[in-house]
Amino acid sequence: MRESRQAAQLGFRKGLQANPSTSAPTARTAFDYKPQSARSSNHARWFVSGLVLPLIGGLIAYGVATRDGSLLAPREPAVNLANLPPLEIAEVEIPTSAMPTSILGDTVEYVVRRNDTMDRIFRQLKLNLTDLAAIRDMPSVQEQLDQLRVGDIITLVHDEGLVQSLTRRISETAILSVTRANEGFNAEVIETPLDIQEVQTEGTIDSSLFVAARAAGVSPEVILQMANDIFGWDIDFALDIQPGDKFNLVYEQKYRDGKFIGNGRILAADFMNNGTLHRAVWFESKDGKVSDYFRPDGRSVRRAFLRAPLEFTRISSNFNPKRRHPILNKIRAHKGVDYAAATGTVIKAAGDGRVAFVGNKGGYGRVVILEHGGGVSTLYGHMSRFASIRNGQRVRQGSTIGYVGSSGAATGPHLHYEYLVNGVHKNPRTVLLPEAGPIPEEYRAEFVTKSGQMLAKLDRAGAATVTTAALAP
Ligand SMILES: [Zn+2]
Repeated sequence: MRESRQAAQLGFRKGLQANPSTSAPTARTAFDYKPQSARSSNHARWFVSGLVLPLIGGLIAYGVATRDGSLLAPREPAVNLANLPPLEIAEVEIPTSAMPTSILGDTVEYVVRRNDTMDRIFRQLKLNLTDLAAIRDMPSVQEQLDQLRVGDIITLVHDEGLVQSLTRRISETAILSVTRANEGFNAEVIETPLDIQEVQTEGTIDSSLFVAARAAGVSPEVILQMANDIFGWDIDFALDIQPGDKFNLVYEQKYRDGKFIGNGRILAADFMNNGTLHRAVWFESKDGKVSDYFRPDGRSVRRAFLRAPLEFTRISSNFNPKRRHPILNKIRAHKGVDYAAATGTVIKAAGDGRVAFVGNKGGYGRVVILEHGGGVSTLYGHMSRFASIRNGQRVRQGSTIGYVGSSGAATGPHLHYEYLVNGVHKNPRTVLLPEAGPIPEEYRAEFVTKSGQMLAKLDRAGAATVTTAALAP
């Protein structure tokens, strides 16, 4: 049996561990870490989906795989995909337990590069193209195979170019495994469930949100999730953050075979901004129809407009605690807010609306104006470039409309943002923003129970914070 591993021969095998700066161990040792007792509902869902087998090495792999490919059909996700944080496939490595063992041949671990297709990969590796055609002919396999992302690893075992097996991770929790059969090939999907654990962590800001996050062992991705997806309607994370602000988070961490592979969703969050406590809790109804963040009283965290219409990034997070925001003192004359941000920072539509103007306008440079109904319009100036939008087009809140620049009369790269009601300028930082609706009445009892449990975890950790702060209205 020849076994020559040619990993890294073609393409280069990167350490795809996400968030090298976050270490699970840090969070584990420094904070109230609940190893076994606090499993999330996601975890429970896997169990009900039939994966009740013990997680012993590779046993589960073949235990749940089907040979008829029935698992290959994409299943309806139980959560609202629009609300999910971007999928972090932290680790695409195929566990050796998922690899067929009795196959002769050379093993190649191919790391997908830009513009790769399966056809190109097979040609590069001098593999049999008839095999590829046969593999792609199997029901549902073609789709699983053809959706390649840069960095994916495809493990191939071949004998003089004849494919013996092909294995690749198709999701965080599943591997596609194709093996040569007496006639043609067999395909199966091997489930590799994640172990989701909850961690709690808190921090106080003294120079920047990200410095505080690092000190608390929280990854930048988790902090960005908090700023962009949870409190972005209420707090302007570019301009409002003050020294002494505090955060307190309960969030998920994903493990596979005992190995940390990435962070998951924030389940509950407190953010104390300038003495006011904002809190939110993730709620997913049993029937899967509601999945979003809510305030403790059941109101959605969403509002008709984002407080700051730009993608909050590490770059835009720095603030100088000794400096006042000079622009705010002359907002009346200025009629807008300026956000200093790196050229290229994503500018988002503050609310649902329609493009009323996209083009050049004197001192504004490249500018976009959106009309939102109810007499509200918003304006975004000095862009470096526009996203692909045109006059009259409808845009959704949060969608990209352009990128920060310094076109027009700008001394440096920044976003100039105006908020107008019936043509009258309002201060976008303080204007009262319409709220989204509360949780539907039929889910209220379920919400109260679930959110109560989750908020209790925050309270246990941040008791001092909670009792001394006024909850945001
Ligand atoms: Zn300005």
